[in-house]
Parts: sequence; structure tokens; C-alpha cells
Amino acid sequence: MMDWDTLKAACAQCHNCTLGETRHNVVFGVGDEHAEVMFIGEGPGENEDLQGEPFVGAAGHLLDDMLEIIGLHRSQVYIANIVKCRPPHNRDPLNTEQDACIAYLRAQVALIQPKIIVCLGRIAAMRLIRSNFKITREHGQWTEKGGVQMMAIYHPSALLRDPDKRPDTFEDLKALQRQIHAICTHTHCQTPGAGQPSA
Ligand code: SF4
Repeated sequence: MMDWDTLKAACAQCHNCTLGETRHNVVFGVGDEHAEVMFIGEGPGENEDLQGEPFVGAAGHLLDDMLEIIGLHRSQVYIANIVKCRPPHNRDPLNTEQDACIAYLRAQVALIQPKIIVCLGRIAAMRLIRSNFKITREHGQWTEKGGVQMMAIYHPSALLRDPDKRPDTFEDLKALQRQIHAICTHTHCQTPGAGQPSA
């Protein structure tokens, strides 16, 4: 198995798909490399591309707020994307681009060995849970794959566009909190988390 340094170095120089030609930075991932909980989105946006870190724009701030609701900080989890370079104009990553990049994510998962993976949005859920995953119907439902508990919630960008989805996401986050309490050993939610998400 590749170690972290080798993996990061390979990813930093990668041009396995055309997204490598237009990126400013590879957005590898961030957080605790021994995390029990991983959050996985589809790909970097503009701010992420410029800063080289996932979920740092408006959607990232909302993700931080969502974590806070269940008493978590991003430093306690690991956050990554299916593709590590920004798709132009924030379009969905193509299947060919996902195919080219997915080995990096699989290597990250192999190194981290999370107990829980939370897919952020439809694209990540379709790639990691099931190709015909329907986020509107199946968000918040647990699936076990390879010993990992997996769930999808709405992407924070979708919650920014459609605040009506937030109550559903609040329930999904509480389900995540219960799962963390049930199966994680060193991930401690700091607060009981009460009230609706406000951001
Ligand atoms: S998106 Fe992934 S496969 Fe494509 S160039 Fe970037 S790191 Fe390489």
C-alpha cells in the first residue's frame, strides 16, 4: 500500500485526465489521517481550486456549520472529493474523470480505514454507494459496504440553493451523530447539538 507522502506526491503531479490542465491546485484532502469519519464530495470548486483545500467557500462554511450542529470540527474528520482537480465552470465531473481519479480516493480510504463514510451529494453517492442512487429518496439511509457504514446527505451547495432541504439534512446529521456514538471509539461529538441549522 502507498504511504501518505508517496500518495500526495503522485497526486500533486497528476495529469491522468484533462482536469489537470486547467487546475490551479490539486485539492488532495484535509483532516485527521486517522479519522473514523470521512466526508466525500464530488470535486473542488473555484475557492477550493485557488486554495488547494476542499470545502473552503460558502458551501464549506455551511459544512462547518453542519458539523458543529453535531458537535464535530473538521479537524476531527477527513474531507476529500471524488476528483482532485476542479471541473471547469463547476460542472459535474465526467465518469471518465472520476475513473481516472478514483484510485487516489481509494488509497486515502485504505490508509484512513474509516468506520463511516458520508457522501456529500448525488455524484459521490452514485460513485461510492450505488450507481442508481437517488439522493432525494435515499439520503440519510445507511448502507454497509466492506465493513464501512455509508450514508449520503445533500451537498452543502444544494442546501444553499434550496433551504427547504435543510430540515431533512438536520435529521440526517442527527442519524450520523447516533451512528458515531454507536460505533466510533475516538470521535467524540462535543455538544448534544440542538436546534435547526441556521446558516
Ligand atoms: S482530477 Fe484526478 S486524475 Fe485528473 S488530473 Fe486531477 S488528480 Fe489527476
